[in-house]
This record gives sequence, C-alpha cells and structure tokens, in this order.
Amino acid sequence: MKLISELFFLICKLFTKVKPNEQIKLKQMKHFPFKRYKYLMWCSYAIYREDKPHLAEMDKRSRTHETIHYLQALDKKFWIVFYASYLWNWIKRNPFSKLSYIKSRYELEAYAKEDDETYPSRREKNAHKKFYLTDEDKKMTLSSVIKARIKQRYKDL
Ligand SMILES: [Zn+2]
Repeated sequence: MKLISELFFLICKLFTKVKPNEQIKLKQMKHFPFKRYKYLMWCSYAIYREDKPHLAEMDKRSRTHETIHYLQALDKKFWIVFYASYLWNWIKRNPFSKLSYIKSRYELEAYAKEDDETYPSRREKNAHKKFYLTDEDKKMTLSSVIKARIKQRYKDL
C-alpha cells in the first residue's frame, strides 16, 4: 500500500509549477529512491529511504547540490519540463555508459558547485549550459576523477 501512496505523491508533484524561493524539504519514503542513491531530488523534496535514517540530517554539500537542481528546474518553470529535459540530457549521452549520469550538464553544474554554498544565491539563469566535459575527461572512467577535474575547471565561476 505504501508503494501506491508514494508513487501517487511523486506523480502528483510532477505536474506542479516550480515555485520561486523554495527550500529543499526532506521527506522519508519506504521505496524511494532506489537503494544505491542517497537522495532523490523530486520537485523540491529531497527524498531518502527510511532504512537510512541518518540522512534526515542533510549535509551541506548535498543541500547545495540539490538546491542547484531546484534552480535548474526553476529556469524551466514546470517540474515536468525539467525532468523531461534532464532525461533527454541523459539519454543523448548514451545512458548505458558508466559515465552517463555525470555527463549531463545538470549534474556537471551540481557537482562542480556543490562545495560552494554561496553559488545558489548568485547563479545565473540557465547556467548549466556553461558546463561540459572535454574530450580528455571523456577518456576517463573513474567518476571521482572526473568530478575533481570539473570542480577544478569551474572554480572561479
Ligand atoms: Zn545531482
């Protein structure tokens, strides 16, 4: 039963408008996100699993990361437009490759700036378009190495 009500919540939220000046709210669920993820940023909620209660206290880095996704969504005005664009960004970069998740410009921006708490307040509209992987990055396979390179490259932005 819980699965149905959780799915219903997720679907209903998807068809809402992105409201300005929202704070990321924490929400516990039984079935979401899938096990290997910490948080699922869903329509301004950071959803975490009830079998990981320590996540109820969100660390600064995760909060900044998810706030960047929220601002990306705000650019698109509707949650469904953001998620469709996010999905497309992912699919067109080969979803079966190991790196596909961080190849998305939405994730590149979030990873590059998650250590900078001041970034969300000065982020420009559609800033994710400035973030990309170089050919050199694409040859690498370790995502932590690539994340470090991305952070280095966009340090002064
Ligand atoms: Zn992310």
